[in-house]
Amino acid sequence: MRVVILGCGGFVGSHLLDNLLGDESYLIEGWDPEDRKIRGHLDNPRFTFHRSVANSPEALVEVERAVRECDVVINLAAICNPSDYNTRPVSVIHASLFDVYPVIQLCAKYRRWLVSFSTSEVYGRTLASYLPAGTYDDPDLYELREDETPLVMGPIQNQRWSYACAKQMAERLVYAHHAEDGLPFTIVRPLNFFGPRMDYIPSRDGDGVPRVLACFMAALMSGQPLQLVDGGQARRTIVSIHEAVDAIRRMLERPAAAQNQAFNIGNPHNEVTMAELADLMRRTYAKITGDRRFDDHPIVTVPAERFYGPGYEDCDRRMPDIGKAQRLLGWTPTMTLPEILLETMRAYHEAYAVPEAV
Ligand code: UDP
Repeated sequence: MRVVILGCGGFVGSHLLDNLLGDESYLIEGWDPEDRKIRGHLDNPRFTFHRSVANSPEALVEVERAVRECDVVINLAAICNPSDYNTRPVSVIHASLFDVYPVIQLCAKYRRWLVSFSTSEVYGRTLASYLPAGTYDDPDLYELREDETPLVMGPIQNQRWSYACAKQMAERLVYAHHAEDGLPFTIVRPLNFFGPRMDYIPSRDGDGVPRVLACFMAALMSGQPLQLVDGGQARRTIVSIHEAVDAIRRMLERPAAAQNQAFNIGNPHNEVTMAELADLMRRTYAKITGDRRFDDHPIVTVPAERFYGPGYEDCDRRMPDIGKAQRLLGWTPTMTLPEILLETMRAYHEAYAVPEAV
């Protein structure tokens, strides 16, 4: 199978390459301005790598040739860090919508299967969170179902939603081209994939605020308190990157089942509040380092406006219905949150905290 991957050098792309290049039947052509996470694959004769963005006019000529020759295009390219959504909204919207549109158009022109990575953020906030009681008694008001749940976002001043809204528009464009031009598509809505190589550590190999796993890791490794935004009551479900990538592989191997569908890819059994995640991570870090003092590592709370700046609004809860992925792909994630954290935090610890391993 000939696969084009746009944004192949990021967290998801690097794990997808690990998986697909392990199978001789895959030939991959990829684009990414960064190669730090995929250096181990650059000499693989079944992988052709372009160290550039895919949306420059010069790159697009090559991308068009690759789209014409391939079986499937997987688009992973995006700016997907919540701290950017309200601080660099123009870049965020461009990267998730306008930069993606030429790719959608090429896939529509050649009727090539487009696996379009979206986000669970397209669901926005749950309906339950707007009701006076604010309880989660009724799954119909919080469970996220691909083909039923309304997509609910805050006002435009709350620029947190710039990413979600751009991604929703990209989904709608994909769907519109499917309806009008017969574009075969699969939309993937990831729900908090965790694993090695996920994010950077501020002031080590990146700047700004990464996602929660790397924020807590950076704090643990530098002796700073873990910071809970607005008390850490937001809930997330966590799925292993390995199991998430297995879901993508299953899609590629079952085109008839996977095409023209949107899929939640997440693990409903691994739900935590951010306060619970902080506690679990400090205890896991105590285990990894053998230093029991981390069991009581300080945890503080900070207002969202101070942590992210104005215009941040949180997703309260992301509980996926994964029945469709189970039914059509035969995919059921089983890795528990403690297992995922142990693997992921150990990888961070080896990469950053142990000097000789850096
Ligand atoms: N968060 C936190 N402390 C941090 C970083 C993030 O409490 O140091 C919270 C954030 O407000 C959100 C959750 O953790 O409620 C997950 O944030 P993340 O950046 O990982 O991305 P998201 O799941 O919102 O896309």
